Amino acid sequence: TAIKVGLLFGGRSGEHQVSITSARAIASALEKGENKQKYQVTPFYINQNGVWLNPEQSAQVLASGIPDDSSTTQGSKWQFPVQCQEMEVWFPILHGPNGEDGTVQGLLTLMDVPFVGSGVLGSALGMDKIAMKNAFDHAQLPQVDYIAVTRDEVFSGPCVFPKLCDRIDTALGYPCFVKPANLGSSVGIAKAKTRQELEEALDSAAQYDHRIIVEAGVKAREVECAVLGNSQAKASVVGEITYNADFYDYETKYTDGKAQLIIPAQLPENIVHKIQEMSLKAFHALNCQGLSRVDFFYVEETGEVLINEINTLPGFTALSMYPQLWEASGVKFADLVDKLINFAMNKQ
Ligand code: ATP
Ligand code: MG
Ligand code: MG
Ligand code: MG
Repeated sequence: TAIKVGLLFGGRSGEHQVSITSARAIASALEKGENKQKYQVTPFYINQNGVWLNPEQSAQVLASGIPDDSSTTQGSKWQFPVQCQEMEVWFPILHGPNGEDGTVQGLLTLMDVPFVGSGVLGSALGMDKIAMKNAFDHAQLPQVDYIAVTRDEVFSGPCVFPKLCDRIDTALGYPCFVKPANLGSSVGIAKAKTRQELEEALDSAAQYDHRIIVEAGVKAREVECAVLGNSQAKASVVGEITYNADFYDYETKYTDGKAQLIIPAQLPENIVHKIQEMSLKAFHALNCQGLSRVDFFYVEETGEVLINEINTLPGFTALSMYPQLWEASGVKFADLVDKLINFAMNKQ
């Protein structure tokens, strides 16, 4: 009999719409070919108020691709649709906070049902850029210099705040990148080229998160590698992103035609190997499972490869980098989804 897969999507983050698009691609892959007999998909949509809609309502969102925020959190939002109890495996395709960060993974762990992707630790470490970069340092993965900042320091007033900026000035210089520690899709990220822009960027990042990271800016090519599996995980071919913008910001990511994916990237073979090796090292250093997309900077002049970040639930639309990297590595979209469910049910 078919395995009951709970497809969990939507969620309360800025990447809500991306999640719906990812879920549509995954659902259709599970209803095709051999997957059709093997799996029975039940959709569970979490709307932007945090309400879990029942499978019938969720199917409508999946079909239309349009968010449904008509239900608000009346009474307890912890009333899960009864069908949840029948699921044999979960495929959470939620991006950003409240989905990619270990919260949902904790819930699914408590439900005692296997799920696709990293557990609580890997997800949490992958979401928080400060914790992630500290872990990368311990694994001796090369990366840009960075400074962790708290919201309290940013709002500390005229005595302390200038000293913080002095410290960043001296340690990192310009341009530097100011990021809320727990987001994705470049939301809240600013490139600061002057002291004044740094001050403004810190103020703005502090609106998003109480943890902020400031990184030295690097001029480099941007390359990404996909990882699939558990303890024996494999790395895909390497892809490159090119764009006509100051950096790979939200608008560039989600406006058609603004960014190009080059798969495979035109790189020396030894650099490709280095990137694949670093991807697996990062994946294991953070205790990731199932899947991850690892983002890098390649400084062509020096041959340096710097790790930027890991995304434990990367964009999964038909046009997203993660499935395209596997497609180019010989794993078709439908097989990829099948493999991920298999890795979920046989974690260890
Ligand atoms: P994702 O959508 O991949 O999860 P994110 O919100 O986690 O993105 P980052 O990948 O950290 O954000 O940064 C977004 C983009 O900003 C990068 O792709 C790059 O273009 C630029 N960027 C970030 N950090 C640096 C840096 N230290 N030096 C140069 N460019 C940077
Ligand atoms: Mg990210
Ligand atoms: Mg992300
Ligand atoms: Mg990134």
